[in-house]
Amino acid sequence: MENATAVSSERLTLHGKAFRPYMAAKTIAERVAELGQQIARDYAHVEPVMVVVLKGSVVFAADLARAVSLPMEMEFVRLSSYSGTQSTGVVKALQPLADELCEGRHLLVVEDIVDTGTTLSKFLPDLKARGAASVKLAALLSKPDARLHEVEIDYLGFEIPNDFVVGYGLDYDELGRNLPGIWVAE
Ligand code: 5GP
Repeated sequence: MENATAVSSERLTLHGKAFRPYMAAKTIAERVAELGQQIARDYAHVEPVMVVVLKGSVVFAADLARAVSLPMEMEFVRLSSYSGTQSTGVVKALQPLADELCEGRHLLVVEDIVDTGTTLSKFLPDLKARGAASVKLAALLSKPDARLHEVEIDYLGFEIPNDFVVGYGLDYDELGRNLPGIWVAE
């Protein structure tokens, strides 16, 4: 079978699409460590539940969780977002958060990237409506120029331009998630 991935030091091809290096693993690690310290300070007196949005956030969440030196639960949700012909997108929880993990709990949602904001502008208010004591958001990346729905990001890694990126959990048709750094489409 032909390998769908080809890597050289300066260029990567996934499913025939070319990417170039954008952000080094070391740069990401330094920022994630800072976010972890900030989160540990802010949650010093409460025990949060980290709510990891599958699949893209898994790599970021694994590093972020280990950078937060506090007792903390980790839970996983799977959301699907599609716009259809409507201007407002529909967001479905394919793997939802259980009620007992929501009611009265301090939730820290972890997302890989906020793009249009469609997914989180529906999901975060839903958690509040279900009785969460607090809901905050940690996102590795944000594309402010792509925003259609406002989303408040409490802990942000980096703002990036409106380009397509892969790596560090983010995929192009399921490839690229295991790249240690972030690459941008050419
Ligand atoms: P939003 O609802 O904010 O438009 O979409 C967020 C989701 O779209 C992210 O969680 C991610 O799965 C996907 N996404 C948005 N931009 C990118 C990108 O540049 N690269 C990849 N791989 N996924 C993206």
